[in-house]
Amino acid sequence: MNWIDLRSDTVTLPTDEMRFAMANAEVGDDVYEDDPTVIRLERLAASILGKESALFVPSGTFGNQLSILTHTLRGDEVIIPASNHIIVHEAGASAVIAGVQMRTLDCEDGMPSVERIYSAIRGEDLHYPRTGLICLENAHSSGRVLPIQYMENVYKLAKSNHVPLHLDGARIFNAAISLKVKPSEIASYADSVMFCLSKGLGAPIGSMLVGTEEFVRRARKGRKIMGGALRQVGIIAAAGIVALEKMIDRLHEDHENARYLSSLMEDIPGVKVMEDRLDINMVFFRLEDHAKNPGLIVDRMLSKGIKINPPEGYEWRFVTNLNVSRQDIERAVDEFGKALKSECQIPHG
Ligand SMILES: *Cc1c(COP(=O)(O)O)cnc(C)c1O
Repeated sequence: MNWIDLRSDTVTLPTDEMRFAMANAEVGDDVYEDDPTVIRLERLAASILGKESALFVPSGTFGNQLSILTHTLRGDEVIIPASNHIIVHEAGASAVIAGVQMRTLDCEDGMPSVERIYSAIRGEDLHYPRTGLICLENAHSSGRVLPIQYMENVYKLAKSNHVPLHLDGARIFNAAISLKVKPSEIASYADSVMFCLSKGLGAPIGSMLVGTEEFVRRARKGRKIMGGALRQVGIIAAAGIVALEKMIDRLHEDHENARYLSSLMEDIPGVKVMEDRLDINMVFFRLEDHAKNPGLIVDRMLSKGIKINPPEGYEWRFVTNLNVSRQDIERAVDEFGKALKSECQIPHG
């Protein structure tokens, strides 16, 4: 079946060119730092982000948690917006792996004011944990992009207080397109950056962690500790190279498609799109009359060949990606409108 999948951009399938590159990749043992394809990918990633060095990691969660492990000491405090992926969607890993305390700042958009971050940085006191790290996320999971000026201001604050800054840049290329800057400009306001090869860029597996040579050398050891040192991983890295060389330039299409999707959704009575959160390839919306049984809508869509996630809280999210065409969008919106109508007719209680 030819599915239309709007659940995420993680669902993208590797392109034929990726599969060909994987089948033909020159490989070696990457634990010996002997895999030429991994070395190429790591150099390419570092150069695109304007950093000294890069490390291939199995997933985005792995890269974020490895970065926290590398920057901090056990018992340190990490300052981070409460709505970030590291807090909400990484299963509490920072407590398990790095053994750090998370100082979460409540805010929906991932942009606590510089003053709030400043007040969260601890001074010297026997009772206080050490402030070990500040984390930001760009693009943010809420669908918004953090402005360059904000990143610069937080980075300056971090530097003047000798606290490192890690950027969860799972979708840094989407952020760069939205901000009309190079990804390296965003990365210049962070000491380390994680980004995903396996989301909008379409690679099947993998993320990159970039930073200084010294940071990456230490992270390499942490990756071994976490069980993420892989052997002939050039097989996977080969797809990552195609992702970086061929797939960045088409991401703007996903953004345009998301706006097209949002405009069609707005025409369905009872749908309220969050218009202030349309910076990347995500459309968030609510229903004026909350669906009493969202599962029925999800199931009905599935029966029409369309995969969507149930809402988180009352919030629904559709994500465009390289496997979703304009025609797919038109069909999905049409079916969603019908599913809403039929849900309303089901007697409840
Ligand atoms: C997807 C994502 C991650 C983690 O990536 P996985 O490969 O799924 O572990 C981290 N941060 C953000 C913002 C993400 O969207």
